[in-house]
Formats: sequence, structure tokens, C-alpha cells
Amino acid sequence: MSSVTIHDKDFVIYLEEEKIQKAIEELAYQLTQKYEGKDVVFIGVLNGCFRFISDLMKHIEFDVEVNFLKLSSYRGTASTGKISDLLSLNSDIKGRQVVVLEDIVDTGHTLDYLMKLLKDKEVASIEVASLLYKPDAFAGKTKPNYVAFNIPNLFVVGYGLDYDGLGRNLNDIYQIRS
Ligand code: 5GP
Repeated sequence: MSSVTIHDKDFVIYLEEEKIQKAIEELAYQLTQKYEGKDVVFIGVLNGCFRFISDLMKHIEFDVEVNFLKLSSYRGTASTGKISDLLSLNSDIKGRQVVVLEDIVDTGHTLDYLMKLLKDKEVASIEVASLLYKPDAFAGKTKPNYVAFNIPNLFVVGYGLDYDGLGRNLNDIYQIRS
């Protein structure tokens, strides 16, 4: 599909499935180089990360604990700037190496909130891997250490990312028609 309509908005294809999968495989390779044999916990930020993590894990062959957190700052196509902590982390991460897995870093406010939350838990180290990153929207303190795609400051859907609840099932990533 070269375009989709979700609710009241039109979206055009931006990143195709094959390109996404290739970038994720490369990211898994980089994480393996750095974390194989270490006491590492991957923390996925729900809801948007579920497809990204699922595909990433297909290429991770070392022992790693995976946990999930649910944070939300979006309503419709804009960040509210206010983060709600909807589902808290339930594993002991004190003294361990943490890799945060994000679907997208936009303003960076969610990541700043999460970094504080994790630092308060006295982890040994934190790195962030994000599938998508919008450098032009970024206004946070922590940039992701690993990024699969830098993208323009436009709203995207698909591959786990939604527009008001819909679009997560799309295998490609679509950009809002401007
Ligand atoms: P931030 O706090 O960095 O502004 O936003 C982080 C969260 O906002 C992401 O985890 C994601 O849920 C949502 N978000 C940011 N940009 C987009 C976008 O372009 N599309 C969708 N669907 N969600 C986005």
C-alpha cells in the first residue's frame, strides 16, 4: 500500500518493511557486540515498541532479561508534554546494565522522565536504542545512543505506532500527508 487513511488523516509510505527489518538486524548486531555476556536488562517502552522488540529479539542470541514499562504522552498527533506512568517496572534492576528500547524519540520528554526513573533505581549503566528519532523535534537531555532511522518532524504510524489507537498492525511505516 502506498497510502492509508486512518480516522480523518491520510498517510503516505515512508519506510518499507524490508528496510525496517534490515536496520533492526544491524541494531541487534551492535547490541550483541556491546552486551553479549553482560548482566543486561532490555526495557521496552509500551505500547509502540512491541513489534520492534519482537523483531529485534529474533536476532539476539545471548541471555538477556526483557521487561516492559508503559508511558504515554500523546493524544492524537501531538505530544501533551505531560507523561503518565501507566504500568511500572516490576524487576530488580539495581546495579545492572539497562538498555531502553523505544519505538520513537520525538521531543525526548518521555526519555528524560524514564532516565530519571531508572537512575533513581541505581542501575549500573543506561543506554537507549530507538527505532526512530526526530532530531528536529528533540528538546530533551538524553539523545538515544543507537538509532535505526533519523526522520523528519512529521507524525508517523505503522509498525507498532498508532494514530488514536489504530495503525499498529501496518507492516510499513507511514508519514502524515502534509
Ligand atoms: P516524546 O516524549 O519523545 O515527545 O514522545 C515519545 C512518545 O510519543 C513515543 O514513545 C510515541 O508513543 C509518541 N510519538 C512521538 N512521535 C510520534 C509519531 O510520529 N507517531 C506516533 N504514532 N507516536 C509518536
